[in-house]
Amino acid sequence: MFKRILIANRGEIALRIIRCCREMNIETVIVYSTADKNSLAVMAADRAVCIGPAKASDSYLNENAIIETALLTECEAVHPGYGFLSENAAFARKCEENNLIFIGPSADIISSMGDKQSARQLMIECGVPVVPGSDGLVATAEEAAHIAERIGYPVLIKASAGGGGKGMRKAFSREDIENAFETAKSEAVAAFGNGDMYIEKLVLNPRHIEIQILADKYGNTIYLGERDCSIQRNNQKLLEEAPCARLGKDKRMVMGETAVRAAKAAGYYSAGTVEFVVNEQGDYYFIEMNTRIQVEHPVTEQVTGIDLIKEQIRIAAGMKLGITQEDTFVKGHAIECRINAATPGVIKFLHFPDGYGVRVESHLFEGYEVSPYYDSMIAKIIVTGSSRLEAVRRLRRALEELIVEGIKTNREFMHLLTYHKDFIRGSYNTGFWEKNHTEIEKWLKEGIAVK
Ligand code: ADP
Ligand code: ADP
Ligand code: MG
Repeated sequence: MFKRILIANRGEIALRIIRCCREMNIETVIVYSTADKNSLAVMAADRAVCIGPAKASDSYLNENAIIETALLTECEAVHPGYGFLSENAAFARKCEENNLIFIGPSADIISSMGDKQSARQLMIECGVPVVPGSDGLVATAEEAAHIAERIGYPVLIKASAGGGGKGMRKAFSREDIENAFETAKSEAVAAFGNGDMYIEKLVLNPRHIEIQILADKYGNTIYLGERDCSIQRNNQKLLEEAPCARLGKDKRMVMGETAVRAAKAAGYYSAGTVEFVVNEQGDYYFIEMNTRIQVEHPVTEQVTGIDLIKEQIRIAAGMKLGITQEDTFVKGHAIECRINAATPGVIKFLHFPDGYGVRVESHLFEGYEVSPYYDSMIAKIIVTGSSRLEAVRRLRRALEELIVEGIKTNREFMHLLTYHKDFIRGSYNTGFWEKNHTEIEKWLKEGIAVK
């Protein structure tokens, strides 16, 4: 096992990794930007090294500074967390060239699976259903219009390097194409430094169902059930649950086996997630694979009892999977709610929920300044119950206990969301937010939220 690893991330996921390393008796070195000088992760790591100013491109994306720090502090491996460099094949390659183990799949696997368009081609080759769309990259709006004509409107113009809901635009008719293509492309260039575009048919109001995979370097690949992440705003997840409230046993198995097939086709190892959209008829289509740990990984941990970060590190260290598909089963129900800051500012008072079945992953503390430089997610509230209903009631109770003073958050909105009939019934899809947010905001204005 590794003696020391470097964590190339910040916030809650950096803490999550540090805690795991503690339990595994691995020393940690964290790199940080000047904006994160007073962060919990910096305090909790065995060593912390400042690598640059607040702007991510000068610090958390500064590949050379990170590699140099890892070498100078004699780390054996680098954990990239999610976001930042976690799906950057060039960075994974730099790690490999410097004899550092990248805790994730190889640079080659990231190139073939982390890039959405090439993953799509690979899936077509191995018979995994994909959404109808372009055969390869689409260079111009003109070309996009031709393809849209062939597959039929509405379509979704997507960036091959996209992530976090960025770099995609819908087009409902020919008139929308130029604008959709150009805005999606420029957003992708700005966010990912890559303007490669492709097109998919827009599946109307699908569910977003994803399968968690674990695979070692010896070809053992298992799936750990699904997560339903259909509650999204602007294609960014807000709430995730495991298992899906309305996926039958048979569909679960078929989708799990399909995800394993997809991972095997790519020669995949590490933790990873195969994402699908499922239409109203129950047909499922591959959309992308995330070749990293995901924000919502705790819900899977809660219902399977498997520590995914620990497994990720064990696999990177060359160990075999200690579990087989037959050993894994899903017990109970878990829901994660993302708490986002609506404004930057200093936390004046903080109280986290606690008690039976409640888990909080957060880097907040009183006096902490939420900076405008990074992702707005400040906490994840994860609840586990023996049934979905129990988990829903526990989530309400946990959100009622949560107090964050000093900044505005989405706490009250999310609390009220748990009272919406479609959520209670579990009969929702990715159209939920669009369809219901005005109504929930009205409840909010009426002041019926728990203060
Ligand atoms: P998940 O698939 O884990 O739910 P999210 O979509 O919530 O991921 O994204 C997790 C974080 O990673 C967010 O901070 C998001 O902005 C960022 N992110 C996701 N994909 C990329 C990418 N390709 N490049 C840069 N940042 C990304
Ligand atoms: P990201 O890398 O930003 O997570 P994804 O390709 O996973 O991008 O898409 C993000 C979300 O956008 C999905 O969860 C889903 O809600 C929606 N989406 C993506 N592709 C389609 C599609 N072809 N039809 C309908 N919705 C889609
Ligand atoms: Mg996605």
